[in-house]
Amino acid sequence: MLLTISTTHQPATDLGFLLHKNPSQVQSFELSFGQVHVFYPEANNERCTVAMLLDVDPVALVRGKAEGSAEGGGLDQYVNDRPYVASSFVSVAIAQVFRSALSGKSKEKPELADAALPLVASVSVIPCRAGEDYLRGLFEPLGYEVTVTQPELDSKFGEWGKSKYYALTLTKNCKLRELLTHLYVLLPVLDNDKHYYVGDAEVEKLLRHGEGWLNNHPKKQDISNKYLKHRHSLVRQINERLAADESNEDLDAVAEKKEAEEESLERKISLNERRIGTVVSVLKQNNAHRVVDLGCGGGKLLKALLEEKEFSEIVGMDVSHRALEIAHQRLYLDRLPEMKRARIKLMQGSLTYRDARIAGYDAATLIEVIEHLDEPRLSALEKVVFKFARPKLVVVTTPNVEYNATFENLPAGKLRHRDHRFEWTRNEFQDWSHRIATTYGYKVQFLPVGDEDPALGAPTQMGVFTT
Ligand code: SAH
Repeated sequence: MLLTISTTHQPATDLGFLLHKNPSQVQSFELSFGQVHVFYPEANNERCTVAMLLDVDPVALVRGKAEGSAEGGGLDQYVNDRPYVASSFVSVAIAQVFRSALSGKSKEKPELADAALPLVASVSVIPCRAGEDYLRGLFEPLGYEVTVTQPELDSKFGEWGKSKYYALTLTKNCKLRELLTHLYVLLPVLDNDKHYYVGDAEVEKLLRHGEGWLNNHPKKQDISNKYLKHRHSLVRQINERLAADESNEDLDAVAEKKEAEEESLERKISLNERRIGTVVSVLKQNNAHRVVDLGCGGGKLLKALLEEKEFSEIVGMDVSHRALEIAHQRLYLDRLPEMKRARIKLMQGSLTYRDARIAGYDAATLIEVIEHLDEPRLSALEKVVFKFARPKLVVVTTPNVEYNATFENLPAGKLRHRDHRFEWTRNEFQDWSHRIATTYGYKVQFLPVGDEDPALGAPTQMGVFTT
């Protein structure tokens, strides 16, 4: 199996710095499934090409059965396409041999690692049962100029026809890291025999390497399904995390505009501050000292809690890594004095799975979170919070949809944020809350947050659940 990457960025031999592989040497690496050789068929000032040649050893694969891809006891475990097709082995090889380039780092040329370079990648033998259009559909949305050919099986025997495998060439001006992450994720998607065990770690890898592009890819569902070998629980995790990342895009520079839209809707009343102020005073009134903020997002409430000494233990939980990173920065967790730092903790987790880590707190808050979950997930969350975590106090806030009529810039019927699955009227929220209270043995009271309109109510509605 052969992968080549060329550049004409001058001096082209800088490619060697980016890959941490000297263009004048041939280097070989032993991996569990065979050998990988890295060498440069051409390396001059104008043009430089690196080649990664994988020499998969089918016999070694059968011996190390746990890792082997071949199934059954027949000859096919020795005689198969593994040694020459681009498969998940290529991903493993990229990750091991080009590790720093894959993560976008370069000690010698950091600015070059961050620059868009003219790159051409060729992969010699690609299995793709779904055909050429599918192959194009994976790479073209990422901005590549794609060339696909189906070589003849043997040029001496034209009647044998074409190979069932494809040769692929991708051309784009982009960072080397981008190209490598796309290959890393998408080559195994094309290969039905992903050779390694697919577990939780693969979810993390897919999210890490898919960052910045997977969520916008038209085939994202298909890519996740195939990358995770159709393991439903993992695919569900990915979907949930991607959806949450989407809802956190408003924290991201790319989607700043969207955030500005929602904020300007609510600015007049600086609703956000009043919401947080109300939550903090409800917590104080109820003598809550140990608080878990569920779906903490970028940590606005956490920041307010941290300023008040009586909150002795503060935990922020969110399903989105991105949100937690932002919270980490906004709270300056790396720079806090020790005493303060000891009072706060962030953790990644989903509110749709029972989680012992969120049990036993005085209070839990769900601030502008429930409207981000669709129906089946919301009912999972109800159980997770009110039945299993079961704090003495739960504070829930959510938009009051009736109030939307006062937002001049919001077209009728449109929700305040594109990731909201629903926005409720006061009656709808109160019905839901009463049902929760009855089912799980809580009392509930309602508070308006923000300036009340006499007919439409307040912009935010709050339910305070106590046992
Ligand atoms: N409470 C914050 C953020 C609200 S946005 C604030 O008031 O600013 C909604 C948050 O819920 C997002 O950060 C999103 O990642 C998180 N979220 C969505 N679904 C979740 C789930 N299943 N588990 C945990 N968090 C979730």
